[in-house]
Amino acid sequence: MNQQQAPVSKNETIQVTFEDLTHEGAGVAKKDGYPLFVKGGLPGEEAEVKVVQVKKNYGFARLINVKKESEQRVEPPCSIFKWCGGCQLQHLSYEGQLQHKHNQVRETLARIGGLNKVPVHSPLGMDDPWRYRNKSQVPFGEQQKQLVAGFYAERSHKIVDMNTCIIQHEDNDKVVQLVKSLAKQYGIRGYDDKTHKGTLRHVVVRHAKHTDELMVVLVTKGEALPNKKNIVQALQDQLPNLKSIMQNINPKRTNVIFGESTEKLWGEDVINDFIGDIKFAISARSFYQVNPEQTKVLYEKALEYAKLTGKETVIDAYCGIGTISLFLAQEAKQVYGVEIVPEAVSDAKRNAKINHIDNADFVVGEAESVIPWWQAQGIEADVIVVDPPRKGCDEKLLETMAAMKPLRIVYVSCNPATLARDLKYLEERGYKTKEVQPVDMFPHTAHIENVALIEREM
Ligand code: SAH
Repeated sequence: MNQQQAPVSKNETIQVTFEDLTHEGAGVAKKDGYPLFVKGGLPGEEAEVKVVQVKKNYGFARLINVKKESEQRVEPPCSIFKWCGGCQLQHLSYEGQLQHKHNQVRETLARIGGLNKVPVHSPLGMDDPWRYRNKSQVPFGEQQKQLVAGFYAERSHKIVDMNTCIIQHEDNDKVVQLVKSLAKQYGIRGYDDKTHKGTLRHVVVRHAKHTDELMVVLVTKGEALPNKKNIVQALQDQLPNLKSIMQNINPKRTNVIFGESTEKLWGEDVINDFIGDIKFAISARSFYQVNPEQTKVLYEKALEYAKLTGKETVIDAYCGIGTISLFLAQEAKQVYGVEIVPEAVSDAKRNAKINHIDNADFVVGEAESVIPWWQAQGIEADVIVVDPPRKGCDEKLLETMAAMKPLRIVYVSCNPATLARDLKYLEERGYKTKEVQPVDMFPHTAHIENVALIEREM
């Protein structure tokens, strides 16, 4: 019914002019006021598009032919960019991407947070924005009885088979292709999320930039992995820098990658990496920033905003394996870290020990439960650093922070929308956002990381 109101119909080919770029990196064109989202379209461009989905208030179309090109358009170097949902902005020059992300952060802070006057610096980008990712998490599946491995197409669960991914470290690419050929050789079936059949769900590879160590995690539906021994041996034989092979079992019907149980198939439980002078042990399921070069830039900015003198008590909420905490501990009196994943907290404790840092304590739990408890114990924080997942801080945590009244809050965020929402909450409770620094951790994708400095006004 409603679909009849749209001025376009499915499979129709139309001429459009792109007006804008969404936060997801899609071009926006309007037909009689009705927005169409098109991957690969850039503002100012005129193009022919084919409508693929019609909804009540908006639709999606596929780019057929660009008639008038933007000056910022470049040839995407990846041959499957058009289909793969992994990257969104390869067709836009890197400078253009940074400008777009800058606008996006300013616009979001103003629209959602009412923060029109906050200085938002130009994003800190990379000199060479390729092959930056240290972690590859590739879904495996079956198409026409053939094993495939690659990322999902946009807005879909269809795997786009891939031979190489040029934002990944070369070794991660090599491992994915190796596992694919071993799986074919040993008749291992890719997992089908529709029928819940098959064996191999994901291959997760981690590469440590500064030690060159590699970890491979095979995520399977059940415990059984036919020819496990041969596969483990072949991986060892062909990957000289391999340090760890793990198997994670995920029996659930879910799009969450990891299941609860992780077993070691060979080698160590962790790989080691450095950020600056600090050494980190990283286990299969722990969060670790994916762009090592930019992580250093991000953490240095967070440390600068924390303005530590050596006398402060600092809380690091959502601390992961203690990366930011240990950076801060070097310049603070005491750091308390809290994190929900138990393996990450054991990594954090181990990381404090191996770096001989004894002024950082870590607790497993929800930040929104543990920090109120710390407050009740009489812990007073001078600075609180938060680095939540995309959904942002829990309101209970924001409320507790406002009540604890630290001088400064440093907010590290991977989602400008929830950052804006949380800053607004803090602004209404006596805090002022002083400045925001975007850091481009994810070139060629639509994502942008930010660090915000927030100070108490009263
Ligand atoms: N600061 C770390 C990790 C940031 S990612 C780093 O830079 O490496 C966000 C982290 O928050 C993840 O490790 C995730 O496991 C954790 N997390 C998610 N929800 C949480 C919650 N409610 N309380 C505490 N930690 C949480």
